[in-house]
Amino acid sequence: MNSKYPYIRRITPNELAEFLNAKGVSHHSFKCPICNNEHHTLIDNMPIEDDKSDVNVVLQPVLPAFVYPRAEELKNAIEKKDYPEHYQHLTQGPILGLVNQAIYREVIHLTCDNCGYVRTFSKDSIIQWLVDEGKF
Ligand SMILES: [Zn+2]
Repeated sequence: MNSKYPYIRRITPNELAEFLNAKGVSHHSFKCPICNNEHHTLIDNMPIEDDKSDVNVVLQPVLPAFVYPRAEELKNAIEKKDYPEHYQHLTQGPILGLVNQAIYREVIHLTCDNCGYVRTFSKDSIIQWLVDEGKF
């Protein structure tokens, strides 16, 4: 782990291997489903600046999603009080103006070193497993 960026925890190859073993992944099922290659590269967050920089900025792979209804429709629905109850927290004062229409799930990728096929894992699932195992 790069201690320079402690606020965004990186998953190490060993942690991913332990996680996958614990989840029943076999040597056979780990192979690339496209070309059967066994060698992959783990892609997690990476610093934008070089090692000599003091800027603590990283790029984290994510799965993006948009929130519907969009801002204008949500505003109209709130004015008409026409929204599901779990949207209640979005209707409290200034928060409405700050509703972000895009949400993200942090992920890591495994890229096949031969054909480039990319597999994606939810980082939350791995981190939760590490926490449960006392390894985080
Ligand atoms: Zn492959």
